[in-house]
Amino acid sequence: MDYELTELQQEVAATAERIAQQKIKPVRARYDENEEFPWEIVNEVKKAGLMGVYVPEALGGAGAGNLGQVLASEQFSRACGGIALAVSASCLCGTPILLFGTPKQREKFLTPLATGEKLGAFTITEPSAGSDATATKTTAKLEGDHYVLNGIKNFCSGGEVADVYVVFASTSLKRGARGLTAFIVEKGTPGFTFGKKEHKMGIRASPTYELVFQNCKVPKENLLYKEGYGLFVAQGTFDLSRPGVAAQGLGIAQGALDETMAYIRVRKQFGQAISSFQAIQHMLADCGTAIEASRALLYATAKAMDNSVGPAVEAALKKGTIVFDEMTALDVKRWTKESGMCKVYCSDTAMKVTIDCVQMCGGIGYMRDFPVEKFMRDAKITQIYEGTNQIQRNEIAMMMIKEAASKAKEAVAA
Ligand SMILES: Cc1cc2nc3c(=O)[nH]c(=O)nc-3n(C[C@H](O)[C@H](O)[C@H](O)COP(=O)(O)OP(=O)(O)OC[C@H]3O[C@@H](n4cnc5c(N)ncnc54)[C@H](O)[C@@H]3O)c2cc1C
Repeated sequence: MDYELTELQQEVAATAERIAQQKIKPVRARYDENEEFPWEIVNEVKKAGLMGVYVPEALGGAGAGNLGQVLASEQFSRACGGIALAVSASCLCGTPILLFGTPKQREKFLTPLATGEKLGAFTITEPSAGSDATATKTTAKLEGDHYVLNGIKNFCSGGEVADVYVVFASTSLKRGARGLTAFIVEKGTPGFTFGKKEHKMGIRASPTYELVFQNCKVPKENLLYKEGYGLFVAQGTFDLSRPGVAAQGLGIAQGALDETMAYIRVRKQFGQAISSFQAIQHMLADCGTAIEASRALLYATAKAMDNSVGPAVEAALKKGTIVFDEMTALDVKRWTKESGMCKVYCSDTAMKVTIDCVQMCGGIGYMRDFPVEKFMRDAKITQIYEGTNQIQRNEIAMMMIKEAASKAKEAVAA
């Protein structure tokens, strides 16, 4: 299918594919087995200038927008979902800084993330605040020119290896959702340490850590946007970042199908290739169709997002303002529904396709020394993080109902 990608987008996809096939594929099993962080791959991606594909060139990135980021993540995930996350966890830190950071914060924190000089992470989840971020217990108290953070965050991707963290804490527990506030915290800040490292089913090349804040003094200038606007920061970030999870799911599905196709064409039973059995062909057709439908939805959404958010980014860079404020001034559409749809559809595709791929390969598909079972383990997380698929469906339905209500109101007014 021709998705009418620009020259830059084609170049990003081709470079990412080359790194994925030549560098990631040969080492993915080792990183999965050892649960090690893939520094050698991160350095390759950095050398190729793909650590900040979505970041404007003026801030050190490739300037290829959200669609560029999606294309790169898809290709990395086609080889390994875990290594892809090790690379892209930084985006989840960079995106809120791009959207809500001041020009000074963009320059200080986003540019080193975009060039790969530094790695980033994003931490909103807590032991008792998962789907419900408003239950956040970590507190941030303003004392002179510092905020003092206390609390525990968990399940942080890129934890320990990252240098820069976007951390959510409550500046007013009694205000609930309206007390949530985002901060930029640097590794090495006194009072900020790492707790338990998680051992996971999949994406094992990406470290997942508990973070501990004990009287951690964060300079006031590291407040991201405004006190009490944490939910805006989180939601605005997820609107743009969920297509990244969708791309991870899409790449995982495609990677599993690539491996499966190569196998079923040569594996013979009853004197013929198993790809000649209609039962296998129907599964193959369903997998291929779901993948292409996922890709079409994802690319179309990312492209539309770039067209609507791009002018606000340009304006903010030109005027030295905050991107989110320019988005508000330009009345840029909220992408919550569409980005949620991409995440749900592509991640459900990833799960279904990888399960079917194991089935098509039979017993060998279940074995650790054959690459297909890893795709199935890696696929599962795409239905869980950045908001579970149940939460996505809640949000999609809510937006649909709101849209219908406003159309009905307009019709009555006309
Ligand atoms: C490997 C991994 C990496 C992660 N990386 C990060 C990270 O980098 N940064 C970060 O901040 N977080 C991260 N997370 C956390 C992740 O985003 C949360 O696990 C996820 O949002 C779900 O929260 P929870 O685990 O507390 O599940 P819960 O909220 O306890 O949900 C449990 C179940 O209940 C369902 N449920 C909950 N509420 C509702 C509802 N209202 N309607 C319908 N169903 C509901 C959920 O869908 C789910 O099936 C990571 C998690 C994992 C496993």
